[in-house]
Order: sequence, then C-alpha cells, then structure tokens
Amino acid sequence: MKLAKLVKRYRIDDPERFKLAAFDPADTGGIDLDKDDANALLAQDVERLAKLQERLYAHDRWALLVVLQAMDAAGKDGVIKHVMSGVNPQGCEVHPFKAPSAQELDHDFLWRAAIRVPERGRIGIFNRSHYEEVLVVRVHPEMLERQKLPPSLTLPRKRGREGRGQDIWKQRFKDIRGFERHLARNGVAVVKFFLHVSKEEQRERLLARVDEPAKRWKFSMTDIAERKLWDKYMDAYEDMIRATSREEAPWYVVPADHKRFARLVVAAAMIEALEGLDLKYPKVEGAALEELQKVRAALLAEERGHRADAKK
Ligand code: ATP
Ligand code: MG
Repeated sequence: MKLAKLVKRYRIDDPERFKLAAFDPADTGGIDLDKDDANALLAQDVERLAKLQERLYAHDRWALLVVLQAMDAAGKDGVIKHVMSGVNPQGCEVHPFKAPSAQELDHDFLWRAAIRVPERGRIGIFNRSHYEEVLVVRVHPEMLERQKLPPSLTLPRKRGREGRGQDIWKQRFKDIRGFERHLARNGVAVVKFFLHVSKEEQRERLLARVDEPAKRWKFSMTDIAERKLWDKYMDAYEDMIRATSREEAPWYVVPADHKRFARLVVAAAMIEALEGLDLKYPKVEGAALEELQKVRAALLAEERGHRADAKK
C-alpha cells in the first residue's frame, strides 16, 4: 500500500462521525508483517525521516510536535525507539508526562505542555501529554479535586449556585483546540497518535512483563488497576478524538496489536507531515555568496602555500 493511503486510512478527518469500534487494533493494512518487507519499509522511512529532520533543522522556521497517547504496554516506547532511531539527537527531544508535580499543579493544566513545545527546527515528542487531563483525570475525578482549581469552576452547577463544573471536559477540549491552533499558526505542526491496542493483546503483554525476568522492571500494579477501567478509558478516548481531531492537529488511530505495523504508520504520518511543510535549505546568495567565494579562494591558496613549503 502507498504511504499516503496508509496514513489517510487512520487519520480522523471526520471527527464528528468517529467511532472507535470501527477501528480494528489488529489491522495490518494488507502488509505481510512476517516477511522482512516490514523491516525494510521501516528502514526506508527512518532514512527519509532523518533527511527531513535535517532539512527542518536547517530551515529553522517550523517545529514538529508529536503526541503519543495509549493504554499501558501499547508500545509508545518502542515507537519512539524505532521510528526515531535514525534522527540526529541534536534535533529531537522526548518529554514524558507523568502525574503532575506540586509545582505543575500550581499552574493551569496546559502550562507544563506549553513550556515543552519544541523550538523551531526541532522535533518534539510528548510521551503522554496534555491529553492526560481529559483521560486519566476524567476516569479518576478525584484527581481533579487535587488540581487546586477554585471550587466554583469545578462544582456541578446547581440552582442558586455558581458552579460550572459539568462543562469542565468540554471546556478543556475547547482550550486544547485553541492551544493547538495557536501552535499551528505560529509554526508548530502537530500530529497526534493514539496507539490502539486491544484488551486481549494488553493482557498478553502485561503477562509477559510478569513472566519474563528482563521485562519485570516494567511491570506496575497501577497498570492492572487502570486495565479494570478499560471501558471508561475507551469512552474517554473516543470523546477526546471526536472533540480534538482537527485539520491543523489531526489524530491518527494507529492499530497497535502488531508493533511493527504501528511503527510503520507513525513513521509514514510523520513523513507526510514534514513533507507538507515545504522545508528548504536556506539559500546563500548575493554578498554572502561572494564572501564565501573569497573564503574558498583563501583556503585553496593556503593549500598551495603548504605544497610550496613542502617542496623547499
Ligand atoms: P509505560 O507504558 O512504560 O508504563 P507510562 O507512560 O505508562 O509508560 P508510567 O510512569 O508508567 O509511564 O505512568 C505515568 C502515569 O502518569 C500514567 O499512569 C499517567 O496516566 C499518569 N499521568 C500523566 N499525566 C497525568 C495527569 N495530568 N494527571 C494525573 N496522572 C497523569
Ligand atoms: Mg505505565
């Protein structure tokens, strides 16, 4: 399948009609993953990404923000490791988003994301992101209570009372859309990936974390607790994607039961996003070019000087 087709299939261009159930986590887009072809395809994409990243860096006008969201063990870390393997570390940064610190809770919920947005010329990866604020926080409303928001903003509206809380998720969706539109208008292209793993595949991967000594360090009891809330999470993901997939910051629902396929989709979508930016190496012209020619002549003259000295 052509790259562009592969990408379009998983991009949510019509969010209002989005239904998570219509997307199969085990889909492989017709690619035979058992063959070495999948590895060869990824190797090609990694090379292409490396070249595009170099151009992004030289052009120094755009940045690319990649948001990764998923249930535990869906393969976020593997995507980062494999897809970014060819990219120059100087032009790329990864930010993990864990439970917020005391300092972070003293700010608005977008603050910690905003200060980590990549600078021009860079690729920034959010390993989890500001979207946790409408996922884990929505599934665990007690977390909202710890966010030190004024009660009148979070309490449900009742007759005679001022609370505006029942709209809090809608408000957050709106604020996130505004934030991402602002980024897009200022030269930060945003692409967002939901690595969509099935509950059964997650069960197997968590079991492997328990069974295989080399993977045990990855196991966390909270993964089991969150797994019990699977359906609530899926509802929250569906609602979130409907409300926040927009042309300037689209969501991709990436089938993630087959790790190699998930990596191919992410790589292809990143390539497409970068290719859409019309990145150019800055041109050296006019006086600057004349200056360079003088430098060249001087460097060549130096070499001739060395040769003449050696002959003496
Ligand atoms: P892995 O897939 O390897 O387990 P991870 O991204 O799950 O990686 P962890 O350290 O296991 O990393 O988990 C980070 C935890 O922080 C997640 O459970 C996530 O839901 C939580 N978290 C992130 N942002 C917030 C937030 N704004 N409020 C509350 N919890 C958050
Ligand atoms: Mg985890």
